[in-house]
Amino acid sequence: MTIPSPWRATVLTLFPEMFPGPLGVSLAGRALASGLWELEARDIRASATDRHRSVDDTPAGGGPGMVLRADVLAAAIDAAGIGPDRPKLLMSPRGRPLTQARVAELADGPGPLIVCGRFEGVDQRVIDGRGLEEVSIGDYVLSGGEIAALALIDACVRLLPGVMGKEASGAEESFSEGLLEYPQYTRPQLFEGVPIPSILTSGDHAKVAAWRRAESEALTASRRPDLWEKAPKRAGRQKTPKNKTDG
Ligand code: SAH
Repeated sequence: MTIPSPWRATVLTLFPEMFPGPLGVSLAGRALASGLWELEARDIRASATDRHRSVDDTPAGGGPGMVLRADVLAAAIDAAGIGPDRPKLLMSPRGRPLTQARVAELADGPGPLIVCGRFEGVDQRVIDGRGLEEVSIGDYVLSGGEIAALALIDACVRLLPGVMGKEASGAEESFSEGLLEYPQYTRPQLFEGVPIPSILTSGDHAKVAAWRRAESEALTASRRPDLWEKAPKRAGRQKTPKNKTDG
């Protein structure tokens, strides 16, 4: 009998010492230590061929900064020996913005190869030639792909079976139904004169669920009209719910 290999992230970076970094602690770190997932950080510079071990060069056509060389990066990708079933990603501000739905897909598969850019970015020919899928973690520019890769891996790992303490806690959170999460409370019952909303301590589970749903819808409609527009319509849902949380 063959034991299925665990979910695996293979990262190509000029700074392998940045891994596992924050993924070595807490939930992800414990899961890594117990073999629920694997992380391989490979140094792109190991594929440099000239005597200076250079990985970058000036941009063709001029302009500021440096560009990661196609030959070096392609050699690093090829040396990683990634099977055809594994997604090949490039962290990039030009990429499609990462969503919880894409995270769930990636967590469901064997785990991706993730290329971390540096400098002004990478030579277009390696993106095209190796079929890299560009993924962005938001409309802002980081100095390198490593922090973006850490964010992507973290989002995937917490969805892997056995990683989160309570299996259920992934199902009811922000984005899972196209909505933002309702507000959370815990003890003390009274904080700076503000009590926990009484419905939550009423013990009436149906009322709690209805309250949470209404809060989720109100928050989503007011903060993220883009998500609200796309959220699955629910029978009895108000068109534009009155916001009880922000108002
Ligand atoms: N000149 C590029 C930015 C390069 S930033 C441009 O204008 O598009 C250097 C590297 O950081 C990128 O190659 C990418 O790997 C990473 N990076 C920066 N911002 C990112 C973001 N929002 N999402 C994912 N990766 C990002």
